[in-house]
Amino acid sequence: MDSPQFTAEPSSNDTVERDFTVGDVPGLRSPASGAERAPLMFDVIIAGCGPTGAMLAAELRLHDVRVLVLEKETEPKSFVRIVGLHIRSLELMAMRGLLDRILGHGRQRPASGFFAAIAKPAPKGLDSAHAYLLGIPQPVIERLLEEHAIELGAQVRHGCAVAGFEQDDEGVTVELADGEQLRARYLVGCDGARSTVRKLLGVGFPGEPSRTETLMGEMEVGVPQEEITAKVTEIHETHRRFWLRPFGEGVYSVVVPAGGVSDRAEPPTLEDFQQQLRTIAGTDFGVHSPRWMSRFGDATRLAERYRVGRVLLAGDAAHIHPPIGGQGLNLGVQDAFNLGWKLAAQIRGWAPETLLDTYQAERHPVAADVLDNTRAQMELLSAEPGPQAARRLLTELMDFDEVNRYLIEKITAIGIRYDFGAGPDLLGRRLRDIDVKQGRLYDLLHRGRGLLLDRTERLTVGGWSDRVDHLADPTAVLDVPSVLLRPDGHVAWIGDDQQDLDGHLARWFGKPAN
Ligand SMILES: Cc1cc2nc3c(=O)[nH]c(=O)nc-3n(C[C@H](O)[C@H](O)[C@H](O)COP(=O)(O)OP(=O)(O)OC[C@H]3O[C@@H](n4cnc5c(N)ncnc54)[C@H](O)[C@@H]3O)c2cc1C
Repeated sequence: MDSPQFTAEPSSNDTVERDFTVGDVPGLRSPASGAERAPLMFDVIIAGCGPTGAMLAAELRLHDVRVLVLEKETEPKSFVRIVGLHIRSLELMAMRGLLDRILGHGRQRPASGFFAAIAKPAPKGLDSAHAYLLGIPQPVIERLLEEHAIELGAQVRHGCAVAGFEQDDEGVTVELADGEQLRARYLVGCDGARSTVRKLLGVGFPGEPSRTETLMGEMEVGVPQEEITAKVTEIHETHRRFWLRPFGEGVYSVVVPAGGVSDRAEPPTLEDFQQQLRTIAGTDFGVHSPRWMSRFGDATRLAERYRVGRVLLAGDAAHIHPPIGGQGLNLGVQDAFNLGWKLAAQIRGWAPETLLDTYQAERHPVAADVLDNTRAQMELLSAEPGPQAARRLLTELMDFDEVNRYLIEKITAIGIRYDFGAGPDLLGRRLRDIDVKQGRLYDLLHRGRGLLLDRTERLTVGGWSDRVDHLADPTAVLDVPSVLLRPDGHVAWIGDDQQDLDGHLARWFGKPAN
C-alpha cells in the first residue's frame, strides 16, 4: 500500500491556498489593507466545541491545518442527557480509530424503534459491520471528541465567546467577547442552535418556530417503582412525549410536555415539573431533589446557506429539529466529516475549484431530509385521531422488511447517496467496513486520506499519492472492479480504466503533484 504522509506537502506556515476575493461575496465590506491586519495566526478558527466543532477540529488536524477552537463555556454542560450514536456515526468513529475508545462508555442497543418510536425489530441484514445504536451521555462523547482533537494538535480555548468577525480577501478577523482579536483564513460556526456566527453572517434560518415544549430532567421520586411503571405504561399510550425511567441510584429521568412555549433561556423549576406531571398523570410521583432540569422545543429550521466567503456553518448552527429519532448530533458530526477534508484541501492548496462548495451541495439536502423526517415523526406522535390512524397504518407497513429497512437506513444515515452523476448505485454512497487482505477497510482510513481499493492490481494513483493511498487487493469482497474512496468513505469512482480514474482523481483531489 502506498502511504506517503502529508509531510511531503508544504507546512501550514507556507500555505498555498488558492485565493478568491471577498468582492465575490455579496454584502461584505471591502478589505482593509494588508498592513492594517493582524497576522494569520491560524488556518481555521472554530466557534464552539460541541460535538460538531470538536470533530471538525480533529478532521482538520489530520491534514496539519492550524486549528483553534473557541468555546464560550468554561465547564462541561451540567445536564447528562443520553444521546444515541447511529450506525453511520459509529462507522465514522471506526474510520478514525475512535470506536474502541467510545464503546466502553456507552450501551449498545438494537438498531430499531427509531422512527417515531414505533417498536419494531431491526430489519434483517443491515449493511454495516456496526449495525447497532450506542447510547452514550452527551458530555462523555463531547469530552472524548475534544480529547481526540487535542491529541491531534488542535488548540481549544474555553471561556472564549466569539462576539464578532469581519472577513476580507485573505482571512477572517474574529473578535472575542472581551475584545481580543484573532485572525485565521477561515471561520466555522459550530456554535449551536442560537449561533452567533450565523446571525452575524446574516444567513436566513427559515422554518417553523417551536409549537410545543418538553421538560426534561433527572430527579428522585417518592413512590415505589411498580406504581410508576403501571402509570407510565397507561399514560404513554396517548402521551408519547412522557416518561419516567429509572436512571440508577434512585434517580429517574423525567420527560413531560410543558404547559406552553416559554422563553427557553430560563430553565424550568421543580414546581413546573410537579405541575405538569399532575396535569398529565394525575400525580407528581413525589418528585424531589433534581440533579438537573432543562427544556427543549420542536423548532425546525435550516440555514439558507452553509458558506459565505470564508465563513461556514455546521451542526446545529446550520439546522435544528426536534430530537425524535436522535439525529441532531449525528448530523452535525457527519457535517464535520464532510467538511473537514475539503476545507483542509482548500488550505493546503490542492482543492479543485468547486470542492469546498460541494459541502453545501451535499449536506444541505441531507439536513433538509432530516428536518422532513422529524416533521413526519412529530405528526405521528400526536394524540389526535388522524395522526393516530396514520401511525397504526405505518406500524402495519413496517412489518414489510423493505419499509422498515428504508426508515432505519434513513435515520441512521447509511442510506445517503450523494449526487456524483450517473453511475452504478454504489457511486456516491458510503462503502461499508469490508474485510481486505490487511484486515478491515476502515482501519486503512484513520489518516483521513483518499483510498483506491484496486481489485485489478494494475491501477495507480500516480501523482496523487501524497493525498490518496493505493491498496491492490484482488480478494476484497466487492462486486465492482475497483473503487476510489474519498476521505469521508464515500465512493467517488467505480471502474477499471486508468484514464477514467485519473479524471476522477483530478475531480476530487486536484492537480497531481508531478
Ligand atoms: C432532549 C434532546 C435529546 C437529544 N438526543 C439526541 C440523540 O439521541 N442523538 C442525536 O444525534 N442528537 C440528539 N440531540 C441533539 C443534539 O444534542 C444536538 O444536535 C447536538 O448537541 C449539536 O451539536 P453541535 O456541536 O452542533 O452544537 P452544540 O452541542 O449546541 O454545541 C455548540 C457549542 O458552541 C458553544 N458556543 C455557543 N455560542 C458560542 C460563541 N459565540 N462562541 C464560542 N462558543 C459558543 C456552546 O457553548 C456549545 O458548547 C438531542 C437534543 C435534545 C434537546
